[in-house]
Amino acid sequence: MTKSINFEVIGHVRSPYKEKFAIPRQPGLVKAAKGFIELTSPFEHIDMVKSIEQFSHLWVIFVFHETMEHGWKPLVRPPRLGGNQKVGVLATRSTFRPNPIGMSVVKLDDVLCENNEIKLAISGLDLLDNTPILDIKPYIPYADAIDTAMGGYADEKPMQLKTVTFSDDAKQVCMQAPSEENLFTLITQVLSQDPRPAYKQNKPDSKIYGIRLYHYNITWCINSNSHVEVLHIEKENE
Ligand code: SAM
Repeated sequence: MTKSINFEVIGHVRSPYKEKFAIPRQPGLVKAAKGFIELTSPFEHIDMVKSIEQFSHLWVIFVFHETMEHGWKPLVRPPRLGGNQKVGVLATRSTFRPNPIGMSVVKLDDVLCENNEIKLAISGLDLLDNTPILDIKPYIPYADAIDTAMGGYADEKPMQLKTVTFSDDAKQVCMQAPSEENLFTLITQVLSQDPRPAYKQNKPDSKIYGIRLYHYNITWCINSNSHVEVLHIEKENE
């Protein structure tokens, strides 16, 4: 019986998410998040992606490299259950699992071949910058989309989106940001998900939070239970 297997990393993700906090819990929730998969040697050959542009979406199989050192436990508290109830690790999409492998469906926006580098432009990702990629496969609707599937404790898409407003300063920085970063919409979509831990939800919270997207440090707070205010956006190294 095979006991262990080595895999080679075929590429890395370039993502606006520079830290784990505030990355959405699944792909497709923040459609404005745009990134790239860059294939690395010896896999950066144009033949590797021939005809991939025929597919609108891809399965990306990757390593939870940032948390893999922390190991795993057989029982997990999924945020969707408020962080109180435990379920088996194999009944979750937790990052802490026996093999730290993740899978996400992302939208394929473009296939770029520049200076012998192969890049797949993707959006809707839930991946940290520099995430190592093990494999990429086309999403095949007839097999992968199952109308009658049951979603267990995660049956419903998270619906309680927060409204997000920006201070005048923060709006100004968004207006000056490069258009491809789509910063205003990206921040709005990320914060509308309310990235705070489950135990903070529906309780008074006066904390000022920070997130990093691209090279921006963004501070924000919760104003009432259903509203997020973006206070300040600062470019790093300024
Ligand atoms: N869609 C994937 C899956 O089901 O396997 C990921 C689900 S997991 C719950 C999503 C979280 O993984 C994100 O919110 C982010 O915090 C975390 N994450 C993303 N990339 C990571 C990485 N390279 N290392 C560790 N954690 C990562």
